Amino acid sequence: MKLILLGPPGAGKGTQAKLLEDKYGCTQLSTGDMLRAAVAAGTDVGKQAEAVMARGDLVPDDVVVGIISDRIDEPDCAAGFILDGFPRNVTQAEALDVMLADKGLALDAVVELAVDDAILVSRIEKRAAETEGGPRADDNVEALRQRLQVYHAQTAPLIDYYGEKGVLRSVDGMAEIDTVSGQIAAALDSGAK
Ligand code: ADP
Repeated sequence: MKLILLGPPGAGKGTQAKLLEDKYGCTQLSTGDMLRAAVAAGTDVGKQAEAVMARGDLVPDDVVVGIISDRIDEPDCAAGFILDGFPRNVTQAEALDVMLADKGLALDAVVELAVDDAILVSRIEKRAAETEGGPRADDNVEALRQRLQVYHAQTAPLIDYYGEKGVLRSVDGMAEIDTVSGQIAAALDSGAK
């Protein structure tokens, strides 16, 4: 299974990606997690990304495209992968199309988790309060507002991008976790190509 989970910050992409990993034996590829690991390790990519992430903006496209391309080549992605947080704009989506074609791969589906902004804010506030070791650097009101703005301006257009390709499946991300995962399974079984 090769799919993209699309949705705003706090939509539950990470939670659903973990459940899909267990169900299909494929690997979650979260660019946010990879970038946070790079920041923690103090690599060149991490140094480049740290301040950009903290204010809620996107790191440069070539950085994330390179990370994803290398990661897809790893053996644990042979059984499939779930892209979580990538692509995040049309440039990245176009780069992904070229990358997958070059590798002889194709997406099975793009699943959109639809959640209203008001719910996202309260979810992320809750996550920030519950995170062991303190909240993420970008889980504060100002950075969250910026992340939502970036989502609407740059990432939401991907809903049309994939809709036009006929691969988009939309799911109500405001339901309970199990209900959402059931809806994703149903969407994937309904002949997603
Ligand atoms: P969330 O979905 O909660 O916003 P992520 O963990 O997906 O969190 O991303 C955190 C931050 O990492 C983003 O705000 C951005 O700065 C950076 N990032 C993650 N993925 C990408 C990407 N595909 N392109 C550019 N920046 C990214």
